[in-house]
Amino acid sequence: MNVLVFAEHIDGSFKKSTFEALSYAKAITGTTSVAALVIGEIDAEKLSELGKYGANKVLHDSQALYNTFDGAAYAAIIANVAQQEQAKVLVISNSYCGKNIAPRVAVKLKAGIVSGVVSLPKIEGTNFIVRKPVFSGKGLADVAIETEVKVLAITPNSYQLNESPAEATVQNIQSDAQPICQSLEIKRATGKIPLTEAEIVVSGGRGWKGPENWGMIEELALILGGATACSKPVSDMHWRSHEEHVGQTGITIKPNLYIAAGISGAIQHLAGVSSSKVIVVINKDPEAPFFKAADYGIVGDVFEVMPQIIAAAKKFKAS
Ligand SMILES: Cc1cc2nc3c(=O)[nH]c(=O)nc-3n(C[C@H](O)[C@H](O)[C@H](O)COP(=O)(O)OP(=O)(O)OC[C@H]3O[C@@H](n4cnc5c(N)ncnc54)[C@H](O)[C@@H]3O)c2cc1C
Repeated sequence: MNVLVFAEHIDGSFKKSTFEALSYAKAITGTTSVAALVIGEIDAEKLSELGKYGANKVLHDSQALYNTFDGAAYAAIIANVAQQEQAKVLVISNSYCGKNIAPRVAVKLKAGIVSGVVSLPKIEGTNFIVRKPVFSGKGLADVAIETEVKVLAITPNSYQLNESPAEATVQNIQSDAQPICQSLEIKRATGKIPLTEAEIVVSGGRGWKGPENWGMIEELALILGGATACSKPVSDMHWRSHEEHVGQTGITIKPNLYIAAGISGAIQHLAGVSSSKVIVVINKDPEAPFFKAADYGIVGDVFEVMPQIIAAAKKFKAS
């Protein structure tokens, strides 16, 4: 079965979710080939990173006009390449870009699509079934895709990275898709660990009362070498930027350690963080629902507990 992966990169660096998508594709195909499609300029040696996660073939359209993301143009390129490669399965990360592209690609290819996939497909005869969370993660649905071509938008952090070194041959391609939007300026957060890639995340909710109190969240994240996150109301009230909002309507994360301070643990929040390896909850209400999902819980006021954790973390780091 030919599988094509859209290999997303930012300013010439592949995202962790790209390697997850490749690992996922390799697991579907087993020993047969996985093709990866890269759009926009990127250093040649970076392309070889794709081989490490199982890509045998890398198709690269390096035209500078595609350096800025454009959903319509990218979808047209992906659909064309999928047809040329006779790909039966397309794997796209369900990232911000992936959410934009995957449905467009599915329409162009008249393919069935499942977004938010969290499992490898179960393939039995002509049955092709994948799993995705539904009702904010309260349930899981097994969805059968019946079209010949299938588009899978996989949830970042839902599939582990697997190295399976392959020699990736690079083939340059040239598309004629025209971008329809032009980004005049892109401002990226600098000097910060991207939330989806962080091994440690320190997160705050409405319990912090206001943006002026976020110093402690940032300080602990800095000491631990982690990223900061927040609940939806916190970003809705503009205490923090929307890039930090985790949950059903925000980003899905799967760090080794998730520290949730002053967050109630509503089902919509848990939908984005419950796969974290270890969850530590700090809340003054012993009945807060988050404690049911926690590995470690501290019942207490964040304004009293957090300074103690910061002091302990500093001491530990210094020792
Ligand atoms: C369709 C839909 C989608 C949604 N998507 C998301 C989503 O993606 N992400 C998300 O987060 N939410 C989402 N929500 C909102 C969600 O339902 C909750 O309302 C939200 O998560 C609550 O945020 P919170 O825990 O910060 O605030 P609150 O519910 O107000 O909880 C604050 C918590 O802080 C504790 N607290 C207060 N003061 C202190 C203190 N001094 N020390 C310690 N603890 C303290 C309180 O006991 C309480 O548990 C969504 C809702 C809907 C309807």
